[in-house]
Amino acid sequence: MTVIPGGLRTLAIERAADGFVRLVFQVPDHRHNVLSREALEDLAAALDLLDGDPPTGVVIVSARPGSFFAGADLQRLAALRDAGQPALVDACDRGRRLFDRLSTSAYATVAVIDGVCLGGGLELALACDLRVATDEPHTALGCPEVKLGLLPGWGGTVRLPRLIGPGPAVEMTASGETCDGSAAERMGLVDACVPAGVAVESAIRLLAIRRRDGSIERRRSRMAEAVTLDPVEREFLESTAAAAILGRTGGHYPAPPAILQTILAGSAVDARAAARIESAAFARLAATPVAGNLLRVFAIGDRNRRDPGVADPLVAAAAPVIANPAVVGAGIMGSGIAARHLRSGFPLVLVDIDEQALTAAVPCILDEAAWDRRSGSADPTAALGHATRLRSAATLASCAGVDLVIESVTERPDVKQQVLADIERVVGPDTVIATNTSTNPIGRLAAGLEAPARFCGMHFFNPVRWMMLVEVVRGPATSDRTVAAVVAHAKRLGKVPVVVSDSPGFLVNRILMPYLHEAGELLREGVPAERIDRAARAFGMPLGPIELYDMVGLDTAFYAGLVLSAAFGDRIEASPVIPALVKAGRLGRKTGAGFYRYAGTGPHARPAGFDDRAGEVIARYAHPPRDTSDRVLVDRLFLPMLLEALRVIDEGLVRDVGDVDLAVIHALGFPAFRGGLLAWGDSLGAAEVVRRLEPLVDLGLRMQPTPRLLDHASSGRPFTP
Ligand code: NAD
Repeated sequence: MTVIPGGLRTLAIERAADGFVRLVFQVPDHRHNVLSREALEDLAAALDLLDGDPPTGVVIVSARPGSFFAGADLQRLAALRDAGQPALVDACDRGRRLFDRLSTSAYATVAVIDGVCLGGGLELALACDLRVATDEPHTALGCPEVKLGLLPGWGGTVRLPRLIGPGPAVEMTASGETCDGSAAERMGLVDACVPAGVAVESAIRLLAIRRRDGSIERRRSRMAEAVTLDPVEREFLESTAAAAILGRTGGHYPAPPAILQTILAGSAVDARAAARIESAAFARLAATPVAGNLLRVFAIGDRNRRDPGVADPLVAAAAPVIANPAVVGAGIMGSGIAARHLRSGFPLVLVDIDEQALTAAVPCILDEAAWDRRSGSADPTAALGHATRLRSAATLASCAGVDLVIESVTERPDVKQQVLADIERVVGPDTVIATNTSTNPIGRLAAGLEAPARFCGMHFFNPVRWMMLVEVVRGPATSDRTVAAVVAHAKRLGKVPVVVSDSPGFLVNRILMPYLHEAGELLREGVPAERIDRAARAFGMPLGPIELYDMVGLDTAFYAGLVLSAAFGDRIEASPVIPALVKAGRLGRKTGAGFYRYAGTGPHARPAGFDDRAGEVIARYAHPPRDTSDRVLVDRLFLPMLLEALRVIDEGLVRDVGDVDLAVIHALGFPAFRGGLLAWGDSLGAAEVVRRLEPLVDLGLRMQPTPRLLDHASSGRPFTP
């Protein structure tokens, strides 16, 4: 094997005696290989070199196990977006031309795919004549561009339908879902799926066979032509895919329908014309506000992934790495937190004083930890593996050797203070202690601790398996070491941690409460619950506020409301409706009745319409009706949230607006296509927000513009930089 010197930083060119060349990628300074500008330039330089002395065949392979290519360099993508749409489209066209060179080269090519092969990485593989994937569990192929409001712009919408058919191509690119090596082989996306140890050898052998039998030439001509699709098939695909996309996106995301139309139009013409269609569609999508919002959400998420949560990188580097955690309290939240730990590979101690609760919780925790999304059931082998790492106990003594305890017991300050003091007595001096409290100030809970520096909030959201956010709450005495350790640990659990200061309701519940409160006021004015929920869903929320009340539990909402109204009663008064419903035993979904009726009880109970008995309770506290057009409904629900977010920023509870937007998306399901709460405010403009508040100001302080809003309105400055 000769290594051809090329002075390239991201790839090595190796020529073997049999005439095959290997292009071995290893892109430095990234955890995964990414198609950075340098990697693309190096590939172009390698193709130049090979043009001078064409080999028998070329194998494209990664030197990084578990990472073929994770896609385009998204940091660069975000920078290109900031530079403007023409820069984005130009980068896209240059990538496409480079991959076209590969697909029309004088030699045959094969990509060996081990690990992630996403976005531009898959498009690179598609530009090769053959693809061989490994059967490793880390191998995943897909086109996630749709999640950024874009479409595959390096020939993906041209080559995929020609290789696997337009229907599967639409499904793959419009959903952004990934598949493993064997599924890719079944759908014809790869030519073989083999063990990693023999992948390169198999790829070379397959390339030699397919060169000899002429199938590579035949495939090249097929890939250059239009796809044969009879009109009935086309119509069927268009209507079913369009309906499925509408169902999935609610019509809020322009990329999936654009992908469908691009693939259909591109399939009807030859590959050159299809490439022009792709380029034009990419340019149109890149210019949409939704793509701009999704790219910004990606950028703030990426910043979060790199952010240690404390200012001093030395403190972050020296923070303890949690290896032996414990969870105290095996209720709804403790169970979810425990399952998340097991799923992430941690051993776990789980403590609850109620042995019955513990016994009931363990099988549910193991099932959730072993849940296989594809089969829709728990994987028994995985559950068995998790069981060996779970130690449940009824006393805190079992926490003696752990390095992190997450307290998640009943939301009563006296109980929590006692449990926290007991925890401190059994653990070692370096153990970090965190509480999952949703309302108790961290400073108050820390009052009974000897060493409050090691204590902070670690607030998960319900249900833990879906909600990505974790608020890491810094109490008055919490040390940077503690914050850094908990932030890093939350990331190892696959969560998105945002550091917030200690304040009633922290960040998320404080912003949520005005939304829930306003929905209650609308009910009192006689607006039907279903209409309120429909308006919120049409805005893009996963649940309407009344449905959300029922899911959270009206008792929980009542206690949270008490804390918030004690702190911010001038604008969030406790509604009399909630305690009246609680008194009537209507606690929401878990009791089969709240605002709505439910078929069954518990988290899986199905709503069965608004309950007139709840209507009778609401009627006791009726307000005079007001103008309630759909636009006004949206203003009433979301403008108070925006005002509260501006107050939160004034108080410095979080670092900046990016953290607020990230938090509302990952904890409340605020629509990402709107870019978050403040980005939504920007889409209206501060002056328009003030104008929309004018007819609502008589409702009270909760609808009054804040000084910051007025300042933005007069200066024209956006809320988001
Ligand atoms: P839950 O009532 O379902 O569970 C609480 C568990 O704590 C019970 O199993 C109970 O037996 C146990 N417990 C009580 N005292 C104990 C003690 N001294 N030692 C050990 N275990 C003890 O409550 P939950 O909904 O899981 O809430 C737990 C915590 O999570 C609360 O602080 C709550 O505010 C917070 N939280 C709840 C939600 C939510 O939506 N439910 C969301 C975020 C945070």
